Amino acid sequence: MTISHHPDIANLMCCAAGSQPETFAAVIASHLSLCKTCCCEVRRMQQIGVALFDKLEPVGMSGPAPVVAMRAGEADADAKGDPSSVSAPAPCGQNAGEVPRPLVPLIGADLDQVAWRWVAPGIWIFPVPLSKGCCGELRLIKVAPGKTMPEHGHAGQELTLILRGSYTDAFGTYRVGDVADLDEGVAHGPVACPEKGCICLMATEGKLIFKSPVARLLQPLLGL
Ligand SMILES: [Zn+2]
Repeated sequence: MTISHHPDIANLMCCAAGSQPETFAAVIASHLSLCKTCCCEVRRMQQIGVALFDKLEPVGMSGPAPVVAMRAGEADADAKGDPSSVSAPAPCGQNAGEVPRPLVPLIGADLDQVAWRWVAPGIWIFPVPLSKGCCGELRLIKVAPGKTMPEHGHAGQELTLILRGSYTDAFGTYRVGDVADLDEGVAHGPVACPEKGCICLMATEGKLIFKSPVARLLQPLLGL
């Protein structure tokens, strides 16, 4: 697998610090399980963070300890009693199939067995269940071969990881393992691969903003 598009460095830093919202953390953790380059980069950032932390003088806490949400990698590390590996990204290259290991508990191990919901001709979605109170949206999107997604912008950041096939937009072609990291205000109309179509995992901070009036009208009904 050749990965050409990686998450922005700021997203990798947030991952290393464990400060990402659940939606983006799912996309980044899945990418790390496929991308040795980013996996090494996050580990390096974590080592720097630990080294800096070790130099801090301990101070007493003025209140109760903050409750920190534990993600899958952290829970694994705790279960093994190895505090040094807390927040360590999933080991790279250990996925059994098309579904990255961090995603399997959320969507199952087979993309063909996902409970897809039809939303438009050639487009299906699956809303990935999130923790109560989690902000943003996390969805699987399946687009039929050659189909174009309605052109849209974003109310906030959008992170998309390709799981099957590919898509092409004005910024290039995104294949399995690639991440499209788009800031608020950037609009695009991805076209799915003419042969294989595209299945991707998409995390968004806010709702998609469709340019087409028809798509905007149907948006609440379609759950997009
Ligand atoms: Zn990468």
